[in-house]
Amino acid sequence: MIKMIGYAVLGVLVLGLSLAFAVSVQKFISNQKLAETAWNEYKPQKIEDLGTVKDLKIMPLIDYYTNSDNLTGEPGVSYLITAGDKKILFDVGYNMKSEHPSPLLRNMEQLGADTKDIDTVVISHNHIDHTGGLKAKKQNTFLLSGEAVDLKHVQAFVPEEMSHATAQIEVTQKPKKIAEGIATTGTIDRAIWMMGITPEQALAVNVEGRGLVLIVGCGHQKAERIIKRTKDLFSIPIYAVIGGLHYPVENSRMKFNMQKFIGTGKLPWQRIGKDEVEEAVAELEKTDLSVVGISAHDSCDWTLNRFREVFRDRYVDVVVGQEISI
Ligand SMILES: [Zn+2]
Ligand SMILES: [Zn+2]
Repeated sequence: MIKMIGYAVLGVLVLGLSLAFAVSVQKFISNQKLAETAWNEYKPQKIEDLGTVKDLKIMPLIDYYTNSDNLTGEPGVSYLITAGDKKILFDVGYNMKSEHPSPLLRNMEQLGADTKDIDTVVISHNHIDHTGGLKAKKQNTFLLSGEAVDLKHVQAFVPEEMSHATAQIEVTQKPKKIAEGIATTGTIDRAIWMMGITPEQALAVNVEGRGLVLIVGCGHQKAERIIKRTKDLFSIPIYAVIGGLHYPVENSRMKFNMQKFIGTGKLPWQRIGKDEVEEAVAELEKTDLSVVGISAHDSCDWTLNRFREVFRDRYVDVVVGQEISI
């Protein structure tokens, strides 16, 4: 009798899970249609008066690899961008254990950076590896650490409705010049299984005598679409692409690479293949880039090596503690 009840409970459980899975697949397919329609229908207005910055420095504060044992690596992103006289924090890392001080603050201290000097925050998209962890997700905000960090002096450009205790928030769904020589591409939607529609923005910085440097978070938008959006927005050549492009095709350094199933913009059994990496590589090659650097937080080592192989001396490693100077 007990055995039969056990089987019945198991049966109900399996049925419930199968149903939930089927609903999640259905939801994903309808979100995918919505995201495609949004992409096809939106025609961005050209930004003609972007201006330039004299120089650009990108210091990875959080990413998978570090250049020293004194720094903490995380499967997340935060880059300190010095563009002319602007100091921009692009994403705020993962802080998986909700520590204070967070890996981001600890790395900042090690690298001589101070939150007081930051005047702008840009959040690429509202995923926990970019907004400071689960606690941030629950509060629909971004958090630099486990305890509050005062950002009264900061203007934050976020991709969707979010709040912050002290920073001044502006949603930049549409492309916008945010300072001289600096713009957001506006958001591009991507349907993500179990996570709804994710709008993601990239940052475009026009460096004098070089061209546009694109700084990307997770790259859920797809490399091809980021390039297309940028070409539609500006009459300036693209000089560099730095950041996450989300090509986890192999487990590589991990026994089990979750990124292969989550965040791919596909159903879990439809993996990202090497052919898609080749398509992205070809698109970037066509764009005639001078600098390319791919984040290891959401791409496997095979992908990084493929980019290294193709772009050779134009490739830069994106490593915490190693400044990229344009
Ligand atoms: Zn990410
Ligand atoms: Zn993401």
